Amino acid sequence: MTTENRGLFDLAGRVAIVTGASRGIGEALAQGLADHGATVVVNYQSAADRAAAVVDAITAKGGRAMAIKADVSDEADADRLVAETVAAFGRVDILINNAGIVLPAPAEDCTLDAWRRTMAVNLDGVFLVSRAAGRQMIAQKSGSIISVGSMSGRIVNWPFRHAAYNVSKAGVHMLTKALATEWAEHGIRVNAIAPGYIRTELTDEVLREHPDVVANHWAKGAVQNRIGGVQELVGAVVYLASDAASFTTGEIITIDGGLTLR
Ligand code: NAP
Repeated sequence: MTTENRGLFDLAGRVAIVTGASRGIGEALAQGLADHGATVVVNYQSAADRAAAVVDAITAKGGRAMAIKADVSDEADADRLVAETVAAFGRVDILINNAGIVLPAPAEDCTLDAWRRTMAVNLDGVFLVSRAAGRQMIAQKSGSIISVGSMSGRIVNWPFRHAAYNVSKAGVHMLTKALATEWAEHGIRVNAIAPGYIRTELTDEVLREHPDVVANHWAKGAVQNRIGGVQELVGAVVYLASDAASFTTGEIITIDGGLTLR
């Protein structure tokens, strides 16, 4: 996409961090931001080769990108992720909190370790990286933070049981509103998207074990009668990152094919 036709959605000159961008939704969001002109830091936890491939794909199209390994649930790693970004590119304009895990288990069998790990990655991780980026954005007097929440932060989706995941995503939604309120005076906007079922390697793992679940539950639940693709999240995130959303903050945009309508 050329600068001329990006219009209000032009992200040229902006520096973005996307957590968990080695695959899935994070990879698509990293590519989408780069397509709109942003320099992108591709964060990953373990998949160095996959993250390098995302960087290569962006640079092959003339974009600027760099991979940084960091566990978002680790305070020192979260601070280093932002510090290394600033050292390399001078600023942080956009943060996408995308890294997340789901460890399904009926509540009565959910171990405290599984509960805590879910909260550590999905909620502590959003807080820690937002805090580190927020400090930089406060100094810059501008920034846009977008977290990937979930419909699971709004409803108890069924038939799989993952209370910890649902609670962590509800926490992400409230943290979004709290940070939007606290940091508005610094010119920082904080928003989230709440996707429904999106086809990624994460959901493919479930499908391998339960091949009938898409037709019988996931697709049927949505008024559009299908699950979504990663590209269907990119536009909303580019919008929230850009000046087109200059009067939008504390908002959770649900993108679920109408699943939470009924
Ligand atoms: P995915 O395919 O499993 O990808 C997860 C990504 O997060 C990977 O890049 C992984 O990096 C990274 N990651 C995991 N733990 C991390 C940590 N501690 N620190 C840094 N990075 C970490 O997942 P996805 O389906 O794309 O989901 C992405 C986000 O969307 C998650 O927050 C998820 O809850 C949310 N979401 C997904 C759906 C869906 O249907 N897929 C629906 C609603 C919300 P490595 O590969 O390097 O480990």
